[in-house]
Amino acid sequence: MPGKFETDVVILGAGPVGLFAVFELGLLDLRAHLVDILDRPGGQCTELYPEKPIYDIPGLAIVTGQELTDRLMQQIKPFGAEFHLGEMASGLDKLDDGRWRLRTDAGTEIIAPVVIIGAGAGSFVPKRPPLAGIEAYEGQSVFYAVRKMEAFRGRDIVVAGGGDSALDWTINLAPIAKSLTLVHHRDGFRAQQHSVNQMRELQAAGKINFHVASVKGLHGANGVLEAVTLAGADKKEWQHACDAFLPFFGLTIKLGPIAEFGLNLHEDLIPVDTAKFESSTPGVFAIGDICTYPGKLKLILCGFHEAALMAQAAFHICRPNEKLRFQYTTSSSSLQKKLGVA
Ligand SMILES: Cc1cc2nc3c(=O)[nH]c(=O)nc-3n(C[C@H](O)[C@H](O)[C@H](O)COP(=O)(O)OP(=O)(O)OC[C@H]3O[C@@H](n4cnc5c(N)ncnc54)[C@H](O)[C@@H]3O)c2cc1C
Repeated sequence: MPGKFETDVVILGAGPVGLFAVFELGLLDLRAHLVDILDRPGGQCTELYPEKPIYDIPGLAIVTGQELTDRLMQQIKPFGAEFHLGEMASGLDKLDDGRWRLRTDAGTEIIAPVVIIGAGAGSFVPKRPPLAGIEAYEGQSVFYAVRKMEAFRGRDIVVAGGGDSALDWTINLAPIAKSLTLVHHRDGFRAQQHSVNQMRELQAAGKINFHVASVKGLHGANGVLEAVTLAGADKKEWQHACDAFLPFFGLTIKLGPIAEFGLNLHEDLIPVDTAKFESSTPGVFAIGDICTYPGKLKLILCGFHEAALMAQAAFHICRPNEKLRFQYTTSSSSLQKKLGVA
């Protein structure tokens, strides 16, 4: 939910490294808010390879991208971090009192003395189909994500694509749409089989239409869509009336607004000092794939180490008058209390 929040640390990026940072900060009693453009945590692990096994996470001989994310979410549960998912971090500015304000494209503002950039290779942004004039319809009739289902109630919707997002939204929006038409360039799908089965059932029951076709053009005025041109496998074209078009053609990664944050960047990466993982801007740290230093490896385990050292340094900024005592989770009853195991 958009709003104004104050916390100890704001983490940009809910990839595996941003998630583990919550744990390391939590052990030091530092509260965190996370922002991610994706609608679920896990970054590259859940977006690019949820079912692929990872073999080099210490202590886990084999774990998939999704399982690792689920385990991290379980591990950070005691610390009650707040997630702002589906929001692009769009601006960072320094306040007069020395704290930072991170703004998102959804209007959320998070104020904290410490900012952690855990943005990986940047934000995942939807691929825009090459249709003339599509920009004019975006936000009003053309959508690359569904933020509020209610916005689609009673509309004539065209969904395009053959992956999980296209199928999931076909299934979820069908009951509230006036009409829903799925178009895909072939009669086969990359989506999970159970979603394909559900879609076929809706089609058989006459609740949705499915065309093997591609969208070739958009028609309307002032950002309000009236129809799309569809072209079938035989190249025959026809117009299909609709007032909402949802293309789901995958995601690309771009550094995005971070480039405008005024941070020192080297080839789209943030140089850090390896004692603290702080950037050259005091109070702004960088961990995981986005940071760079001599010998940096873009591995999850390296990001975990970076998160641990960052947390120690962040503590001194957030609690300048308190002493930090190094403790082991195995033997510290106060850490165990925080973890809810003592
Ligand atoms: C196919 C593949 C296989 C891999 N296999 C392994 C392996 O076996 N072992 C291993 O250690 N590593 C592996 N990696 C690399 C590993 O996935 C990365 O090192 C790891 O994901 C980095 O984590 P991160 O948290 O730094 O960044 P990411 O996982 O990239 O997460 C960053 C998050 O920040 C978000 N973000 C960025 N900018 C913004 C913004 N402006 N606003 C909002 N959100 C934003 C992104 O949406 C993303 O969710 C693999 C990578 C790939 C692609």
